Order: sequence, then C-alpha cells, then structure tokens
Amino acid sequence: MFDRIAILDWSAAGRPKTGKDSIWLAVADAEGVRATNIPTRTEAEGAVAALMKQGRTLLGIDVSLAYPAGFAEQIAGGPLDLWGWLAQHISDAPDNSNNHREVASLMNSHFQGEGPLWGNGAKAEIDGLPRLKPAHALPEWRACEKAMRSAGAQPSSCWQLAGVGAVGAQMLTAHPMLHRLQHNTNTSVWPFEKPSENVIAEVYPSLLSAEVKAHLARHPAMVPDQAQVTLLAQALWTLNGNGTLAQMLHADLPEAAKIEGWVLGQDDPIALRRALPPVQEPPRLRDDCFAMPQGVSWVPVDEALERLRAALTPLAQVQALPTHMAHGRILAADTVARRSNPPRPNSAVDGYGFAHATTGAGVQTLPLVKGRAAAGQPFDGAVPAGAAVRILTGAILPDGVDTVVLEEDCAVDAASVTFDGPVKPRANTRKAGEDVEAGVTALTQGTKLRAPEIALLSALGVPEVQVYAPLRVGVLSTGDEIINRPDQDALPHQIYDANRPMLLSLLDRWGYTPVDLGHVKDDPKRIEKALDRGADRADVILTSGGASAGDEDHTSRILRTKGTLSSWRIALKPGRPLALSLWNGAPVFGLPGNPVAALVCALVFARPALSLMSGAGWLEPIGFTVPAAFEKNKKPGRREYLRARLNAKGEAEVFKSEGSGRISGLAWADGLVELDDGPAQITHGAPVRYIPYAMLGLT
Ligand code: AMP
Ligand code: MG
Repeated sequence: MFDRIAILDWSAAGRPKTGKDSIWLAVADAEGVRATNIPTRTEAEGAVAALMKQGRTLLGIDVSLAYPAGFAEQIAGGPLDLWGWLAQHISDAPDNSNNHREVASLMNSHFQGEGPLWGNGAKAEIDGLPRLKPAHALPEWRACEKAMRSAGAQPSSCWQLAGVGAVGAQMLTAHPMLHRLQHNTNTSVWPFEKPSENVIAEVYPSLLSAEVKAHLARHPAMVPDQAQVTLLAQALWTLNGNGTLAQMLHADLPEAAKIEGWVLGQDDPIALRRALPPVQEPPRLRDDCFAMPQGVSWVPVDEALERLRAALTPLAQVQALPTHMAHGRILAADTVARRSNPPRPNSAVDGYGFAHATTGAGVQTLPLVKGRAAAGQPFDGAVPAGAAVRILTGAILPDGVDTVVLEEDCAVDAASVTFDGPVKPRANTRKAGEDVEAGVTALTQGTKLRAPEIALLSALGVPEVQVYAPLRVGVLSTGDEIINRPDQDALPHQIYDANRPMLLSLLDRWGYTPVDLGHVKDDPKRIEKALDRGADRADVILTSGGASAGDEDHTSRILRTKGTLSSWRIALKPGRPLALSLWNGAPVFGLPGNPVAALVCALVFARPALSLMSGAGWLEPIGFTVPAAFEKNKKPGRREYLRARLNAKGEAEVFKSEGSGRISGLAWADGLVELDDGPAQITHGAPVRYIPYAMLGLT
C-alpha cells in the first residue's frame, strides 16, 4: 500500500514550457488528487524527489523505462545500467537546454552500421543522428508495446527523437533523473527490481483515452496532459486502496519484461478504467425546452411527438463495461471491429483442399499430403501444386489451398483423393473478412446490445464497450384519495394506487432502472419534496395525477410556479393535458391520473422520449393494418387509442367500453387500435391500424 500515487507526464522541451505537452505532475492521496504544471525538468525533479522522500510513494512516469532488447546491452549492460550511463552523459540545465541529441549520436556510435536512434528537431545537422528512420538491426518494439499494439493501442517507438508524438528524447532526459531518484531514496524500479518502499513504474495514460476524452469534454479549459495525469493518478489510487495495484506489481510477467520493462496496468486496462467513478455529468436540457408557442390550444399527437423529439437529448451517463457484461445496454459510441471475421480464409466444410488452378473438368485424382488442417490446428507447411490436403470446417486454408471439395463428393484411399471436376474456384471456403473486416464500424452508437450483438462484438475481438448507464426513471403518484399500502383496507373515499405499480413494471420491462418515489398527498410542500428527491435520484420523473389545470391539480400548479411547466393540451383520447417540465434539471412527465390515460400517454409519449434520453434513439411503434371487428362513428379532432385485441380471424376487436376508468379493459386487451385525428366511419371489416402491446415493449 502506498501513501500517495504520483503520475508524471514528462517533456523533453529545450526551453521552460507550460501548458500542452509540458511537464504535469498529479498526486493522488487520501486528500484527493491535484495536478501541477512544472516549467522545467530541474524543478520537476525537485518536486518528485520531495514526494519520494516522504516514503511510500509510487511514481508512475509516462516514459518508456527501457529500450527494445539488444540496445542497453551494447552500451552499458542492463536497462538500469543504461540509466547510470545516461546520467553521466546527459547535461540538462535549469533552463531545459540539454545535449540529448549529441548523446543520442554517441549511443548510435556503439553500433556497427547505423544505430537505431533517429530524428532531429533542431536546425543544425548532427553527425550520427539521421533525420529519417535508418535501417538498423534492432527490434522496433518492446514486448510490452507489441502486446499493447495488438490490443489496439498505438505507442510510439523508443528510437524516434523528433516529430509528432515522438518519445525518444523524453527517455534520454528522464532516465538520468530516474537514476538519481532511485539512488537517493529507498526506491526500486518495477519490474526490474522487487517492489520496495518507493516504486518507479512506467505508465501509459492512453489506456484511459476514452475517459480522458469525456473528461475534457466536460472541462474544456483543461489541457489533455493534465486530464491524463489526474485521471491516472485517481485510478491508481483507487486500485492502491483495494489491493489491485499490489497484485499488478507482483503479477508474473513475460520474460522480456526483465530487459524491456512493462507498463503498469497494461494487462488489465479495464480494472484501471473501472477504478474511475462514472463521473460524466449528464448533459442538461435547456430550461425552455418544453415551451409551446403562445396561442396553441390543442396540439395534434404527431406535432407533440415532433416537439418532444426535438427538445430532448440523451441524458444517461457513459461507462465502460466488459462486452460480456453489457447485455441490454446501449452503445454510447460507434464500435470498431478489432479483428476481421473470419480472421483468415478458412474452410466452410469437412473435405479436401487444393489449389484450384491445378484442377480441371472430369475425374480428378490428387495425391494427399501427410497431415491435416483442422480448426485451431493449422496445417504445418504449404500444400504443393497438384496435391490435396485433408481439411475440416473452420480450419485456416493452408498455403497452396484456395478451394475445398466436400468430403461427401470424394472417394479417398490412403494416398489420394478423387472427385468429379470441374469445381468452382474458392468453392466451400470463406474469405477473410467476408463477414466483417477489421477496422470498420461494426455497430453504431445507440445500438442496443442483445445476444446477437454480444456475439458479434466478441467475435470481432472487442473486449470492452462504451455504453450508457441505464436511465433512472422515478415514478411518483399524487392524490389525496390514493393509498399506497396495498395491504391496508381502503376507506370508502380511498382508492388503491394503480399507476405507480403499473409504471414501475413498465419501466423495468423497457430496460430502465425504475426508482420508486412513492405517493404524496395533494400538498404543495410534499409534492415539492418528492420532486426534489426524484431529481436527485433519477434522470427523469414520471408523475401521475393532478396534471390538469383545475383547483385540485397541485402537481401542475407546483411545476408552473417552481419548475418550467408547459402544459401540452394534446388532441388525444384517452388523455388530458400532458404536463412537461424541468425540475432541478430533470425532465418531468406529468401523466394523467386516470390509469387508462396514464398508460396510453406513457406508451405514446414517454416510451419514445425515454428511449431517446437513454441513448437508444427515438422509437416509432410498429403497427399492422387489420380488418375491424367493430363499428364506430369517430368524430374529428382527436387521435384515439382503443383497447383492442385480435380475434381468431385476425380482426381487431375493441373493449366493450371506452370509459377511461376501466382498467380491466387494459388487461383484456393485447394492443391498441389507433384511429387517426380526422373523422371516420368504421364498419365491420374496414382496415384499421392495430399496434400489439409487444410492439410497445409491453409483453
Ligand atoms: P387526476 O388526474 O388527479 O384528476 O385523477 C384522475 C382520476 O385518476 C381520478 O379518478 C383519480 O382518482 C384517478 N387516479 C389518480 N391517481 C391514481 C393512481 N395512482 N391510481 C389509480 N387511480 C388514480
Ligand atoms: Mg388528483
């Protein structure tokens, strides 16, 4: 356990520098996290040395601690010996002027032919330090970098000293400082030495790039380096507290790490990311988002829907989740295939593979090579032209094979396979990437992750996804007559709360997090308190009851005086005004008290609106045109929804009463018949639009 985590973002600047691409130091400890910008390396070394003196400090530095194998050995011995060598050769003045280019050239001179270091950002030519990448014999990448690259990261090469994103000069100027720190205090260097009281380790802030991006979006004045060190220090401090950091420092590493080093946390970036609180403050809606133009009396349903759609934005917070744990969530970002599917050309059947060019029409007999190609057991070597190989479904096509013939179409003996030609070129094979190619957008933002999407992302090597947190939706019932205790006897003037259980079930079914805000009497103070609680605990609030403009319509009165109420008089039956408002920034949908109207309004308005706010986008219900099994003379002016279900002939029957207090009709029905705003004379057999409950997410 450390008492503090220090994260240092280094810079090889030749002059004192602040702001972007300069030195940033973040320290996280029991008091919190703070970042400072330090203009020179000399001052930074002083600041870090002071921290390490306090003991129990982990210093994470965003600089490679070692080079690819073969480099340090040629100059000084082990990687830490090279630090000592550099401490002797690098001179770095308090004003940041330094000789790193000359030292790089000296290092290159230890190699026969061209040395690996290159890149010169200065005007003057330096002998032995080419401006362009030389042909040299050393590996380009360390093992830890190879591992990160295959996980999609793009670290820079240790060899490059100048140019965009170059890190080579930072190494040359950091290693002398690290050498002094290591020798002045009780400090060990991970993973070269066993962890001691203070530890120096290499870190790579890009492991948190998505979090950094989100952080910067919320703090536009922040410099990226500052956000990086701050978040990384914060994450490692959390992992320090829960024991994960200790595990990371003691984990078994590949052999190469002893010479080339390793990046702290690179094997479990998800742990790092999850150590950060899901901070994103949700975007806020504008205060006037629900405003209706003056003078509008009755708003048609379609116009109300359009207005809602335009007013709302996604509100849910964003978080990273392992793909296999993201079922039911909604993608918050486009997701790119990391690997093609299939990754390599392979066989679609069990059979025999060969080069198509060596076959023709008529009976073909090809000698069989020894061995076989099976899924997970690639054939070792190439299949010579004119020969065939036994191949099984899913096996990578060996070199020399582009076509497969089905085993049922073959006669075989120990030495050869015989079949009828001609065979189509590439028959029974799958092309690499024929399903999805690496690098393309596999799924777009707003996609709900169902089992098929989880399968697709898993196949494409996507271990983790950015998803929206489930939208939290509060439900509040109001009304003096309502009792919220289903286990209590109701007095004659009381009725049991039907809306709250109905809406909570509905929200759960829609995949949101229902938040029960209970019931309050028609008392302004209590309604206010309940709304405060709701805005605290939920992203959106649904209320029922008291939404009209009458004497007893307290919900709308409070929303009008203290919120930003806009009563939408919607031309809809059943349903009365829909009250829309913001309360402490949380949108409030004031639904009618009548359970039939409350459900219809929830299905027609709240469902698409919540979907949009959850990040999944607007929803249009899908309906079917079916013959009516009823007759009705519909008056113009309002859109009507009738409780309906299909009979055995596939016709829509409607509930015997249109009374909006008839909750039993909701339960009797399997869907709604939607009658358009205009007049209609519906006779038996006339086409009507039927929307099954299932299409409204209600099953
Ligand atoms: P209101 O919108 O408050 O005028 O209520 C309209 C009708 O719906 C009244 O008959 C209320 O008693 C009834 N009602 C309101 N809230 C509920 C509820 N939570 N459960 C059942 N009925 C309700
Ligand atoms: Mg009421």
